[in-house]
Amino acid sequence: MLQLFMKEEMVENKDYELNDIVEMRKPHPCVSKSKQFEIIRLGADIKIKCLGCGNVIMLSREDFNKKAKKIIKKQ
Ligand SMILES: [Zn+2]
Repeated sequence: MLQLFMKEEMVENKDYELNDIVEMRKPHPCVSKSKQFEIIRLGADIKIKCLGCGNVIMLSREDFNKKAKKIIKKQ
């Protein structure tokens, strides 16, 4: 029971910050088919900007955690 709880906690707790680049599991359905987005707002909801077309998408944190594949840190 406790172990299950800890696993869920880890999924929620991805290490990302404002202005990080995130690679999503699915490409944006735009001309560029970019999978890379920049995090432009972190709150109860998360806003990400497609690096291909510049469109902004809003996701709940839960959705974001499900759809994000990896985080690429800006140096
Ligand atoms: Zn796009």
